[in-house]
Amino acid sequence: MDPSTKNRILTFLDTHYPHVGCELLYRQDYELLIAVVLSAQTTDQAVNKVTPVLFERFPSLEALADAPISAIESVIQTIGLYRTKAHHVKAIAQQLLSLHEGRVPSDKAALTALPGVGIKTANVVRAELFRIPEIAVDTHVHRLAYRLGFRQKKDDVLVTEKKLRKALPPERYILFHHQLIHFGRYRCTAKKPMCSTCPLIDLCKEKNKNL
Ligand code: SF4
Repeated sequence: MDPSTKNRILTFLDTHYPHVGCELLYRQDYELLIAVVLSAQTTDQAVNKVTPVLFERFPSLEALADAPISAIESVIQTIGLYRTKAHHVKAIAQQLLSLHEGRVPSDKAALTALPGVGIKTANVVRAELFRIPEIAVDTHVHRLAYRLGFRQKKDDVLVTEKKLRKALPPERYILFHHQLIHFGRYRCTAKKPMCSTCPLIDLCKEKNKNL
């Protein structure tokens, strides 16, 4: 990508999404980790409806570690894959207590060793809790990276992450990640992107897909 195109994209994102950040609700480090695990293949909105209830009913890592799986399931049953996620929530609480003194680790290998935590989740947690420059490639970031020309069609999420890291300075990673998520969630959606009013339409690889 040539520098002027990249600057156009970054200027557009800065103009429309100057102060965006994580939309998941949390008060403590482990609440963020669990919220991100719960958000896999589910909207942040759906997660935000269940986590306040979950963390009120089980208000500590110890309470979550001791909770019956069925009790966790009953609180989170409105979100996708809730049975598997209920097991992950309990196991994460147990492992944070037994292996990490009740704190969320910042190390990527330690994070991805936790149940239900993949690279994307680890990157979100490292960026949000520790401000470590990371680009978490979720479905929005992956789609937009293609449409805006940062990656090729055949690239998987790991290649996309590598290409984005190469294309941007590290101090841009965290904000850029949130900006693409907001653009993808509210404007450049997967099925009905608002192409007719998009200032980036001339450089887009999937413009007017739905028109
Ligand atoms: S032209 Fe349409 S598909 Fe392309 S970036 Fe803009 S809104 Fe998204």
